[in-house]
Amino acid sequence: MKPKLVIAETSYSNWNYHLRLVLPGEEKYSGGAGPALCGQAMGWDTKIPLSVYGNKDHIPSSYCSKCKELAETQGFVIAVKVL
Ligand SMILES: [Zn+2]
Repeated sequence: MKPKLVIAETSYSNWNYHLRLVLPGEEKYSGGAGPALCGQAMGWDTKIPLSVYGNKDHIPSSYCSKCKELAETQGFVIAVKVL
């Protein structure tokens, strides 16, 4: 099975998003997620669509630019520019 890219969140800070690869069906929405592409420890996966990775909205969310770069080197397309 081909791994897919999911947006994961750190357990210590809300809305601090990274990316990680996970096999379909092995997402960890309630904790126990593996590390992000950049090596950062993750708390859990989210169901946020990849297409909004990098979007800023009313909440003080942050997105890891290192994860975006690493995902792109693996052929994934992240549409939003991550600041
Ligand atoms: Zn990261």
